[in-house]
Amino acid sequence: MHNRLPLTQKSTPYWWEAAPVRPVPVQPLAKTLDVAIVGAGYTGLAAGLTLARAGRSVAAFDAMNPGEGASSRNGGITSGSIRPGYSVLTRRFGEKTALAIEAEGKVAREFLYDFIRTENMACDFQLTGLFKGALGFDQYEPMARSAELLAKRLGIEAYAVPHAEQHGYIGTDFYRGGTVRMDIGGLHPAKFHAELLRVALAAGVTVHAQTPVTGIKRDGEAFLLRTSAGVVRARQVLVCTNGYTDSALPFLRRRMVPVRSRMIATETLSPEVMARLMPKKMMMGENRQLGFYYRPSPDGTRILLGGRDNTRDDNATAPILRLRDGLIELFPELENVRLSHTWYGNVAMHRDMIPRIFERDGLVYATGFCGSGVVWAPWLGTRAANRLLGNTSEARTAFDFRPPAFVPFYNGTPWFMPAVIQGYALQDRLAMWRSRR
Ligand SMILES: Cc1cc2nc3c(=O)[nH]c(=O)nc-3n(C[C@H](O)[C@H](O)[C@H](O)COP(=O)(O)OP(=O)(O)OC[C@H]3O[C@@H](n4cnc5c(N)ncnc54)[C@H](O)[C@@H]3O)c2cc1C
Repeated sequence: MHNRLPLTQKSTPYWWEAAPVRPVPVQPLAKTLDVAIVGAGYTGLAAGLTLARAGRSVAAFDAMNPGEGASSRNGGITSGSIRPGYSVLTRRFGEKTALAIEAEGKVAREFLYDFIRTENMACDFQLTGLFKGALGFDQYEPMARSAELLAKRLGIEAYAVPHAEQHGYIGTDFYRGGTVRMDIGGLHPAKFHAELLRVALAAGVTVHAQTPVTGIKRDGEAFLLRTSAGVVRARQVLVCTNGYTDSALPFLRRRMVPVRSRMIATETLSPEVMARLMPKKMMMGENRQLGFYYRPSPDGTRILLGGRDNTRDDNATAPILRLRDGLIELFPELENVRLSHTWYGNVAMHRDMIPRIFERDGLVYATGFCGSGVVWAPWLGTRAANRLLGNTSEARTAFDFRPPAFVPFYNGTPWFMPAVIQGYALQDRLAMWRSRR
């Protein structure tokens, strides 16, 4: 029996130690704006930056402190992945769109890396590569073929790691080999948000912290936004609320399912242990429905691991234990490790699990990044801003879709998520059983 209590010392994100989220100085509310943005996470700020640099008067409103949503809570892995695989995308949209979506992931990652570099963002970004573990040899073969295809089709450095070479990448016997892709790395998510905020403010974006938008209605060619600080008239509105969408945006709320994702951070580990468990300091993932994502902290002193949390209240014991047990299954030598932090945030899912920009009744939305928004949010925020600016070529994206489908019997409270997650867990157990027979 491993040491279970006390489970953690803090229930705030590890990332907030170095980059706490805070309110920005209060600014007067403009009576009129070119563009009002709802939400000041990565998406809203990236959009605001583009609009302000194009000379628009723009304000971003956030119900919490800027970044206090998913944008300072995430794993910082620059995955830019799409949940449905290439074959599913091809079946749904045809090969041309499927390929365009995959290719856009590559462009969006490069955009992010270039953005961090040109804006001199101190956010601990390192292009480490990502190792993805295979649960069994039956998974390894198709994963190896996918890595080969990725290299051939998109020119991404991607390759298979056979079981015998696994310890060069990760100190576990849990997997049966895996794949590596070198176009994915890690950053410090809260520092990245703080840097984005710095650049956006410097460009002239007004950010209103702790100022929820409580309603939006048409007013001739423009919109009236009711906020907790007063009413503002905006020519255009961009909605960037993702997993924190509330009743002020009823159309999106019925089409967006917030899914809780939880992370744990270990206490500091010795350099020898870190070198044994994560010798190449890569980002890590696995090939299962409810797979864990994990990584070394940017300073390489501890491990951060995340996964789904199917609870809906604040009693975190069961989900923390699930993550901790997962960590120990991977790395049995951590049996007695103590955890320093645990926290959760909401990721935003549409029914088809595809991010998108769409327009409805004149409002533009950039939504549904399904836990991969470190890449998609800055990219689609910028694309959405270009759409508002009428810059057709810079607005072009393979994710310019129709509005997401309505979720039946759903009004914004995801009562069905515990059952859905249990279904996925069952699929994972079956896959594991088949793989390990
Ligand atoms: C635990 C966790 C781990 C994750 N790990 C990764 C990862 O490793 N890699 C990756 O790529 N992605 C990851 N993600 C996903 C990523 O964090 C998100 O996709 C991304 O941050 C979304 O940014 P955003 O700006 O669209 O939304 P958010 O950052 O969530 O911002 C939305 C904002 O809208 C505001 N808002 C909502 N309603 C209103 C209103 N009515 N008025 C005013 N403001 C409003 C909220 O207050 C919130 O601040 C993770 C997410 C979580 C929670």
